Amino acid sequence: MKVRVGQGFDVHAFSTDADRVLVLGGVVFDGEPGLIGHSDADVVAHACADALLGAAGLGDIGQHFPDTDPRWSGADSIGLLTEVAQRVRGAGFEPGNVDCAVVCERPKLAPQREAMQLRLSEAVGAPVTVKGNRAEGLGAIGRVEGIACFAVAVVSAS
Ligand code: MG
Repeated sequence: MKVRVGQGFDVHAFSTDADRVLVLGGVVFDGEPGLIGHSDADVVAHACADALLGAAGLGDIGQHFPDTDPRWSGADSIGLLTEVAQRVRGAGFEPGNVDCAVVCERPKLAPQREAMQLRLSEAVGAPVTVKGNRAEGLGAIGRVEGIACFAVAVVSAS
């Protein structure tokens, strides 16, 4: 069995636009400031997608879904992640699992962790786990200017 690993990273800044909705791992966090982005700015789904694409040697999310393309304006990133998983399978790889580390001072992820894992796992068709980490006040994330996410994916040749 040929196993490959991929790494994904993404970061989005908080928006001051009160109409932006915060979506993390396909789950809406009511009452929280949204993130700036061409799509719904789901930083967790984006990091997962990049990890999977990297594992399959398929480049990155920007190549597959250019932010200059109006088709992806306001896009549901869970839909993009579902499409990425299909492209990974189309390239002959089966996703094994994806593990994410979300770095943010807010919101608290724990109450929505199960819901995020469920939505992400459904999109990928394999287990996706989510961990929350504080930045301990350090740097831009620590100043609550945005949210970052690291992800690692494993795929095997199918
Ligand atoms: Mg992104």
